[in-house]
This record gives sequence, structure tokens and C-alpha cells, in this order.
Amino acid sequence: MAQLDTREKLAILADAAKYDASCASSGTAKRDSRDGKGLGSTEGMGICHAYAPDGRCISLLKILLTNSCIFDCHYCINRKSSNVRRARFTAQEVVNLTISFYKRNYIEGLFLSSGIIKSSNYTMEQMVEVARSLREDHHFRGYIHLKTIPDADPELVHQAGLYADRVSINVELPTVSGLKRLAPEKDGARIEGAMKDVKTSIADNGDARKKYKSAPRFAPAGQSTQMIVGADAATDGEIVTRASTLYDRFGLRRVYYSAFSPIPDASTVLPLQRPPLMREHRLYQSDWLMRFYDYSPHEVVAAADDATGMLPLDIDPKLAWALKFRESFPVDVNRAPREMLLRVPGLGVKAVDRIVASRRWRRLRLDDVARLTVSVTKVRPFIVAEDWRPVLLTDRADLKPLVAPRRQQLELFAA
Ligand code: SF4
Repeated sequence: MAQLDTREKLAILADAAKYDASCASSGTAKRDSRDGKGLGSTEGMGICHAYAPDGRCISLLKILLTNSCIFDCHYCINRKSSNVRRARFTAQEVVNLTISFYKRNYIEGLFLSSGIIKSSNYTMEQMVEVARSLREDHHFRGYIHLKTIPDADPELVHQAGLYADRVSINVELPTVSGLKRLAPEKDGARIEGAMKDVKTSIADNGDARKKYKSAPRFAPAGQSTQMIVGADAATDGEIVTRASTLYDRFGLRRVYYSAFSPIPDASTVLPLQRPPLMREHRLYQSDWLMRFYDYSPHEVVAAADDATGMLPLDIDPKLAWALKFRESFPVDVNRAPREMLLRVPGLGVKAVDRIVASRRWRRLRLDDVARLTVSVTKVRPFIVAEDWRPVLLTDRADLKPLVAPRRQQLELFAA
């Protein structure tokens, strides 16, 4: 590996980390100020944003320890056979960078992942050493998110949880067959075993802290995982079902969905095109429905097309469900239980809670609901209010164009 200075390593290893969706924001136009005009850039890698457990949006230094790897996962730009420029930080270099960025007020925390060098345990030891040194040598109180290394010793993963706020273990692909085909060196059972160990440690830590306030915390921001979407043939229905199983079995805080992006010198087993970014967005919306809107996984799956198992791209899954199950509507805003109000397209959790609170004092009219929502046009066909009843509206064959968002002309040269 060529000798690189810290700035060059940072450029390579921050860029290599962009494929990890676990704290990513995405989907904007490319802009920068390298020509000396203006300020800022939407393209620079290295600092991303994530939400802290208390809901604050925090900026994180997001880098890999190294982009060298002894594994050869087909979808990964850092795989052994990939022809990319390699770089490697020492644990001390990552510590120094984090502290100096923190002191300059650039970041509030660290997101660290890595390819596998020498062995899983050796790499995991380096990552744990970064977190240990930050916490113990520098008394760093900022946020740390560590990605664990597949097949690392459970004791090392445990140590990671003692220093990090969040640990994550990627399941990578939604199906066992997809994992076998695209990441043959990874073992689905061992990945799930590691997630189970983290779940147990989090639960044990909760018990210990109830008894002893001084018990050291273990991954207080929980664990998360990531699935690559569109690299294998898994349908949205399969992805939603898998995500729901992962939430239930391992008490995950988040499942992240990362639309597969074609990489240079890609393996022939990969699709040539990336899936539409909208697919990733629809999966996040369906995830939201399960976590905050009380939809069961099979209800979300029912919103998908029966023949293809895919969620529609032109409308969100909540609207798709409502259009498919029109017999559940209209819903009376003055009487319906909260869980039915949550099914109404256009009504968010806050709006529903305000409806439930206000209707204790008076009967709500359409205008009252309109004040709580962005588009009453979307809501109207699905509700009954004191002065409103959608006569035959929910049965109309052309209801979808009336309530679906208007199509917009895309920019010809947009990124
Ligand atoms: S183990 Fe991780 S870094 Fe290595 S090839 Fe697979 S996905 Fe890429």
C-alpha cells in the first residue's frame, strides 16, 4: 500500500464509507464550491448526520478504518478483487482525527466501519481500540457508532457495546439465498447470532442499571442493521417481512435500506442498473408504517402489487393500502379509534393525536381537520366529519388520480 498522508487517507476512506446507509441522508443535486465561488458542497464525504437518542440531529465523522478487505462480497466496492485505491488508518490516527474535528466543532461524534484486514478479530480489536482510547484516554463524551465486523469474537463485540452508543451488524441482503450468492464468505446464522448476543447484552444492561445506577452502559442507542435493496431478486414484500422479523427478534432500533448502486468493475452476477431511489424511499415509508402507525407486516405487504410483490412507486404505501382496502373507509373523525384514524392517508401521528384530543370538547368539522393536514384533498375521500360525508367518493374508479401526488417533470440534467 502506497504511503499516503492523512488528508489523502481521509479522502479515500470517507468516500468509501458513503455506501453505508446507516446514518445517511440522500437524494439531492450535486453542488460544490471548488471553483472558488460560493460556499459549501453537497458532495463532500466524511461528515454525515444522524439522530441522537434524544432526537437531536448530530454530525458525525463517517469513515472506514480501512477499505482493504479479505472478503469478496460481490456488491461491495471494497471487496478483495476490486480495483480501487486502498488506504488504512491506524487506530491512533482515527482517534486524533476525531478529537481534532471535535475540537474544531466540525462533528459531534464518530461513525466507524471497516473492511476486514488480516482477520475479523484483528480488525474488530482495532475498532474497539479507537472507541476505548476516545472514551478512556480522551474522556470523549460524544456519540460513537461502531459497525461490527462479521465473525468477530462475541467478547470483542461486547467490548464495542461498552464504548459505543450504537453498534450495528449488517444482515446485508434480505434473503438467505441472496447472501449465499452475493456474499458467500458471510454466514447468515452467525450474523443473527451476533445480533442476538447484542440484544441479550442490552437487556442485561437494562436490568443491571435498574439495580445499580453505576453499572456501565451498553450500547445505549441500541443496535441497527442494513439491507441492500435491488442487488438480488427479493421483492418489497420479502424485504418488509424480513425487516419486521429482525425488529421483533433482535429489538433493533432501525433497519436501514440501501439501494444497491452499481460499482466500477462490477461482478457479472449483479444487476447492471440500480433500483429506483424511490423504491428505497417507499421501503422507509413502509418501515415507518410498522413502527409508528401500527400496521402489521402482512398489512404492509398487502399494499404491494399481488403479482409482483412490489410496492407502487407512484404513491406511498399508506395510500396504496387505503385504495386497495376501500371497504375500511370512510373513517369518522369524531368516533373512530386512533388506530383507524392512523390509516387515513394524509393524517400523520401528530394530526391524529390532535384530533383525538380536540374531539373530547366538540365535534370536528372538515375545516378543523384541514387545519391539521397539508392536503385536505387527500384526506377528504377517506373521512366523515360533522359537516362532511364523501358520498360514493371512496367507490370511484378514478379515485387514485384525485388523491395521488401530481407527477412532476424531472430536470433533464439532474444528478
Ligand atoms: S466484508 Fe464488508 S468490506 Fe469486505 S467485501 Fe464484504 S461488504 Fe465489503
